[in-house]
Amino acid sequence: MNQSENIQSWLRQLAELDSAMRRLNENSPEIAGIPQRIEAIRALIPTSMLAHYDHLKSRGKRSVAAVGHGFCGSCHLAIPRGRVAELRRSPEALHVCDNCGAFIYMSEEELAEAPKAHTSGGSKKSAAAPLPTRRRGAALAAK
Ligand SMILES: [Zn+2]
Repeated sequence: MNQSENIQSWLRQLAELDSAMRRLNENSPEIAGIPQRIEAIRALIPTSMLAHYDHLKSRGKRSVAAVGHGFCGSCHLAIPRGRVAELRRSPEALHVCDNCGAFIYMSEEELAEAPKAHTSGGSKKSAAAPLPTRRRGAALAAK
């Protein structure tokens, strides 16, 4: 059972709910139930990570950000190549931006754009198979 995968998904959900809270008017009907969902998710996340999340949030930063084209979605600085490689190797693990400290993850789109590795070394022509579309992130979409 991969615990870090759950924590990453909880942190992403928490960030989405927190941003919904900021976006929505207090009297908006859409806000109903969101504080309760936030509490429920916070109860699942280890305290140390929650503290880190809140620390970033209190400084007005994005606590959880997707990596796009090798750049951190929070501080917009380039992620070192080694870190990008780690993100690709274990996209479900928890990673932190070396610069701003935000929890970072690689979006499904970014993972799908993995550089084509020509490691076969053979001279035979290989037919380019269409990449299967990744739909793992669909669970996060609002229902
Ligand atoms: Zn960053």
